[in-house]
Amino acid sequence: MALAHNLGFPRIGRDRELKKALEAHWRGELDEAGLRAVGQRLRAEHWQLQKDAGIALLPVGDFAWYDQVLTHSLAFGVIPQRFRPANGKPTLDTLFAMARGVSVNNSQHGCCGGAHAQELTKWFDTNYHYLVPEFAADQQFALSWEQLFEEVAEAHALGHAVKPVLIGPLTYLWLGKSKGGAFDRLELLERLLPVYGEILQRLAAQGVDWVQIDEPILALDLPQDWKNAFERAYNLIQREPCRKLIATYFGGLEDNLGLAANLPVDGLHIDLVRAPQQFPSILDRLPAYKVLSLGVVNGRNVWRTDLEKVLAILQQAHERLGERLWVAPSCSLLHSPVDLAREDQLDAELKSWLAFAVQKCREVALLGKALAAPEDAEVLAALAQSRAVQAARAASPRIHKPDVQARLTALEPAAGLRQSPFAARRGKQRARLQLPLLPTTTIGSFPQTAAIRQARQAFRAGTLSADDYAEAMRSEIRHAVEVQEALGLDVLVHGEAERNDMVEYFAEQLDGYAFTRFGWVQSYGSRCVKPAVIVGDLSRPQAMTLDWIRYAQGLTAKPMKGMLTGPVTMLMWSFAREDVPREVQARQLALAIRDEVLDLEAAGIGIIQIDEAALREGLPLRREAWQGYLDCATEAFRLAAGGVRDETQIHTHMCYSEFNEVIEAIAAMDADVITIETSRSAMQLLEAFERFAYPNEIGPGVYDIHSPRVPDSAEMAGLLRKAARRIPLERLWVNPDCGLKTRAWPETEAALVNMVAAARQLRAELA
Ligand code: GLN
Ligand code: ZN
Repeated sequence: MALAHNLGFPRIGRDRELKKALEAHWRGELDEAGLRAVGQRLRAEHWQLQKDAGIALLPVGDFAWYDQVLTHSLAFGVIPQRFRPANGKPTLDTLFAMARGVSVNNSQHGCCGGAHAQELTKWFDTNYHYLVPEFAADQQFALSWEQLFEEVAEAHALGHAVKPVLIGPLTYLWLGKSKGGAFDRLELLERLLPVYGEILQRLAAQGVDWVQIDEPILALDLPQDWKNAFERAYNLIQREPCRKLIATYFGGLEDNLGLAANLPVDGLHIDLVRAPQQFPSILDRLPAYKVLSLGVVNGRNVWRTDLEKVLAILQQAHERLGERLWVAPSCSLLHSPVDLAREDQLDAELKSWLAFAVQKCREVALLGKALAAPEDAEVLAALAQSRAVQAARAASPRIHKPDVQARLTALEPAAGLRQSPFAARRGKQRARLQLPLLPTTTIGSFPQTAAIRQARQAFRAGTLSADDYAEAMRSEIRHAVEVQEALGLDVLVHGEAERNDMVEYFAEQLDGYAFTRFGWVQSYGSRCVKPAVIVGDLSRPQAMTLDWIRYAQGLTAKPMKGMLTGPVTMLMWSFAREDVPREVQARQLALAIRDEVLDLEAAGIGIIQIDEAALREGLPLRREAWQGYLDCATEAFRLAAGGVRDETQIHTHMCYSEFNEVIEAIAAMDADVITIETSRSAMQLLEAFERFAYPNEIGPGVYDIHSPRVPDSAEMAGLLRKAARRIPLERLWVNPDCGLKTRAWPETEAALVNMVAAARQLRAELA
């Protein structure tokens, strides 16, 4: 029998109970005891769900009040000075303060008022965000948080066989940042390891046999000193009690395979979904005493596993390994929605194709059972059902649209090329648009006020008619246009009032997308997202934005930007198909957007912006895969934008400034104008231009929209002067960092008044 285990289960609850309890607690409506009770109930429920599904070894330590990395920081006593409680003992308040910051006038918390939260950043290439540990040069580590031991005791009391989950010491250090003086955080390893020893001893005393130690950085390009440190660390850890399974995921081990396989521990987990090529070579590399856990059920998507296909691989492994083979999801199920059974309104066909965390646990268990008892009736039935599902999907007209596929195949290579190079387009655009030097604009959205959200809710609930809803949105557009004209902005936007979300809005109007009601996944803390699902070939049955943009353009003589979301961002923020390559999905999305671009152009819209907010975050974990990704992303963008005439100006927007590594690819997208984030880094981005002269026009954001602070015009003029040193004036635009939807109107107007003044001042100064 191959042991079925799980690397981690979603903690939010099938109805986002944890989110609701946390937010009630933060509002002061639920006390700590009440919050703890919700957590305890969720843990108990989740263990039971996994056990009932057939998981033999249940994870503990996957629950977190906010984030699992933050839990480790508390456990190790990595609590920055500004949060450290007077008596040295962290509490739940400490944990939430580290996660969310403490405002100046909140003195109830024992420590300092006005402590800013720890930095939040993406967990590898997922959409989950963790809190970045902050290390001081004199950082000490001391076991400071009992949560893991309490939860192990809780699980034992419920009669469960458990496997505590720890983030490994090297991954933990890797994820953190050195603060206050430059020092190498790897130097902290020797100080950190004794805490792992202490934890393992405590767990052993509780009767724990196996511990899972996650070291996902083994799937990254690691510097040599980090590779060396692995051996050192695990030579020490091996002396401690408990059997240890090192878990790797999100990619292949590749050059780290030998290192990972030979660490002095008792088992290794690898991700065969992301990196199937690791099999079967891993079988020859693994020492004969070790357990091999194969991650064969995708922990990061919503599709049912092709059980027969996976079973063939497992059988091959089983012949070699016997009892030493374990079966698991590819990674923690944290990245998957909770329970498909909750979807009461999904059509039966689509539902039969999907699997959420609970269903994935069942798949894992069934695969384990199939190895031991291939003729078991339940096994045979499940395999037959899986085969039927795969066949139905492969043949479904809902998925396979011959016209979409034919259009892709027939695409001319020139489809992604503009008529003329930028230098030639530029004059035509200037003649048409008649913009001043240093044109001013915004990124697209204006404040999403409570009134807008209420109108949308009422419309969705059926209490507001379609006509009344449309009129409410038109009145928002009128307001946005009036404000922009009064401010004296040069290129206007309609404000995106009608959009709930920049991906969902388009996904809802495209053919080939589906939506769940409960497919929530944690993004960070209490924040969850419910990505749309790409089910089949994608196309645009009818115009998506045309009426709004045409209406907005009709209100003003100034150019109105058409506003679209780009193909890479659509793909990155959706659950993608697994039955066709991502490149194909990106190109289908690109063609759908291209249709909209062409409709806008035909309606006389002279400027069209295609946002690619997620382009950079899609960069693969391994550098060797970067170029392939960037080529595909660039191609998709060009396909979306390339159909327009020279006179039509294409803009794009990206919300980050770490451009140095990808600037060539961004230039290759050949947008006429790009707007980007730079103000938080005080135009640091411009360093990229020392090495590479960006050829087209560019609007480096002159103020940070993530904060309600209103910078004065001198500050913005200063940033513009800085930019003008690197970018010729006639190619420079003036705009904020990002969309304004999260801001309120008063601060928005105040900041834009200053921004327009700064542009005017610079025009006078530099022209
Ligand atoms: N046009 C979008 C907006 O202004 C862009 C958002 C984004 O880049 N995240 O809201
Ligand atoms: Zn942005």
